[in-house]
Amino acid sequence: MFRLFDTAIGDIVEVSPIHSDNFSMYVCGPTVYDLAHLGHGRYALVFDVLRRYLEWRGLNVRHVSNITDVDDKILDRARRENRTPGEVTLEFEQKWFATMDRLGVLRPHFTPHATEYIAKMISLISSLIDLDAAYIGDDGVYFDSTKVSDYGLLARQSLSSLRAGARIEDKGFKRSSTDFVLWKFDSDASWAWESPWGIGRPGWHTECVVMSTDLLGSEFDLHGGGLDLSFPHHENERAQACAIGIGFSHHWVHNGFVMVGNDKMSKSLGNFTTLDELLENTDPRAYRLLVLQSHYRSPLEVNAQTLSEASRALNRFDLTYRRIKDSDIRTIGLEPQDDICDTFRSAMDSDLDTPRAMADLFDLRSSINQLLDRGEKEAAARSFTTLEHLLGVLGIKLMESEEAQFPPEVMSLLEQRTNARARRAFDEADRIRNILTELGFVIEDTPEGQRVRRL
Ligand SMILES: [Zn+2]
Repeated sequence: MFRLFDTAIGDIVEVSPIHSDNFSMYVCGPTVYDLAHLGHGRYALVFDVLRRYLEWRGLNVRHVSNITDVDDKILDRARRENRTPGEVTLEFEQKWFATMDRLGVLRPHFTPHATEYIAKMISLISSLIDLDAAYIGDDGVYFDSTKVSDYGLLARQSLSSLRAGARIEDKGFKRSSTDFVLWKFDSDASWAWESPWGIGRPGWHTECVVMSTDLLGSEFDLHGGGLDLSFPHHENERAQACAIGIGFSHHWVHNGFVMVGNDKMSKSLGNFTTLDELLENTDPRAYRLLVLQSHYRSPLEVNAQTLSEASRALNRFDLTYRRIKDSDIRTIGLEPQDDICDTFRSAMDSDLDTPRAMADLFDLRSSINQLLDRGEKEAAARSFTTLEHLLGVLGIKLMESEEAQFPPEVMSLLEQRTNARARRAFDEADRIRNILTELGFVIEDTPEGQRVRRL
């Protein structure tokens, strides 16, 4: 039984697919006007791991994630840089996928663009007007939030408390502060579309309703994204679906924020880091490992220390991989061990408990090293096959790292030294360093862990 925390229910619930072996998921994608940041990387990795895991569990996953290529921020950038909006979106969409590829995020099966769905958005907005769930104001068409009895479900707040919180906000032409724009009039027709109500552009919240139902049907299994999307974006998507009377997403899943220091990462706080900057000095697999070591709903602390810990942890896995390769052990044809896979499954089934799954895999790695130390090659081979298989489910592929090109006894000493340093047993670490020096190797300690080279 697979369980996830459903924001709409406020609890961990069983997730059973609508159509037995198939699983349909829609994850809100980027607005392509700037480079991807750490928060984008986190949500992309969280839902990548969810997809990989469900596929491993035997489900046929259909993963849709959109590209928002209509937005005022795109237009602002285009104007600032004297370019067309299309040039801006093309540049940042290409950069987005290049960065996601580096992170090892599987490409969604479908990546619809908002600009391809304008006609369908206009048709949805027309239906909402016909149903009296939307009205035409002086500057655009608005959704009437009072027409959805449980508006506020994803915000986990009632309509009245949402209103109270928003009362200072200038509501302009809106009848209520919780109403939201479906279509914005814009007389400057340089980047606008014709509609029955006037030339303009769609608001942000309609595109995902139209694209998700077009590609996944009027009911699908899961709608996800970062926690910042739960309100208002997902609330407003859901409100439109409720108003037209479709089942829409059965589950709503959100991942937590990325924290830099004690603050939520955001552009306005100036602690905004792009993924490309991060990946200049960090193995992309280490960022994935860091994401996996936090529960997806918890805040994720990204700083020099957590990154270097993740890099070292990754390095240990790679060292074990190298030891196996150097030990002349054959793993071809071996199957992963059922009992270990079952333990992995029970952690992952329990609201995607990747920290627990990773802790188990670290233990498995230690036991492989012990088996190797004792010369129990067959048992080590079986356990290693399982380790490699389950790390693969999480999207981590082991590699021969730069350091891993050295003789097995050097690898073993490096491993012991990493462990000694982790225990803060620095005398022991120095002793091992001296042995390595005598063997003709120089060790440097860097934030990414120890580096070794021949004298
Ligand atoms: Zn969306």
